[in-house]
Amino acid sequence: MPTPLPWHQIDTVLLDMDGTLIDLHFDSYLWQRRVPECYAERRALSLAEARAQIDAHYQAVAGTLDWYCVDYWSRTLGLDIRALKQELLEKIQWRPHALPFLAALRAAGKQLVLFTNAHPASLSVKEARLGLADHLDLMISTHELGWSKESQHCWQALAERLAFDPARTLFVDDSERILQAAADFGIGYQLAIQTPDSQQPAQRITAFPAIHDYAELLPLAG
Ligand SMILES: [Mg+2]
Repeated sequence: MPTPLPWHQIDTVLLDMDGTLIDLHFDSYLWQRRVPECYAERRALSLAEARAQIDAHYQAVAGTLDWYCVDYWSRTLGLDIRALKQELLEKIQWRPHALPFLAALRAAGKQLVLFTNAHPASLSVKEARLGLADHLDLMISTHELGWSKESQHCWQALAERLAFDPARTLFVDDSERILQAAADFGIGYQLAIQTPDSQQPAQRITAFPAIHDYAELLPLAG
C-alpha cells in the first residue's frame, strides 16, 4: 500500500508523461524493437549487431537532453524517427486510471503541470493522439529549459518559469533517479510508478512511495 498523500498540503502536481501518464509500451516498442529493426535493415547488420551499436549510442547520452531528442536520433542513426512513430500511433495509450486521477486532482483544485523530458515533437505526437492538454493546466518540455530533469539546473529553470511552491508540490515520475533529483531540489512529495510499461514486469522502487495504478489513490483522501 502506498503511504497516503497529504493532499491538503499539496497545491501543485507535476506529472511526467512517458511511463507516468502514458503507457511506456509505445516508447519501449519503438526504441527497443522498431528502431533496431530499421537500423539493421538500413546498415545490413544482424539485429544483435544493430542493437549493440545503438546501445553504445544510447549509453553515450543517457540522462542528457540528447537522449530524449528526436532530431539527435534521426541524425545519429540515419532513420526517420518521426515517420516510425506515425506507424505505431495506436500504441499511445493512457496508463490505467490516469484520466480519473487527473479529473480528481482538478476537482480538488490542484495546479496540474505536465513536466516531461520528451522532445516537443514527441509531446505533440502524444498530444494529437490523446488530447493531453485538455486535462492539464500547463505542459512543459524540459527542452524549453535547456536541461533534463536529472539536472538541478532544470529544476532551477522550472522555478523561474512556473509559479509554484516546491514544498507544497507532488512530483510523479517512473524514474527513481529523476524523483531523487526532484527531492534534492526541495520538491515536497514524490510518487513513483512501478509499472510504467504495461507489457513489462514491475520495477523495484525503494526510496519513494510507489503505485501500480492510480486507482490506488482514488478517491483522493488526506
Ligand atoms: Mg517517464
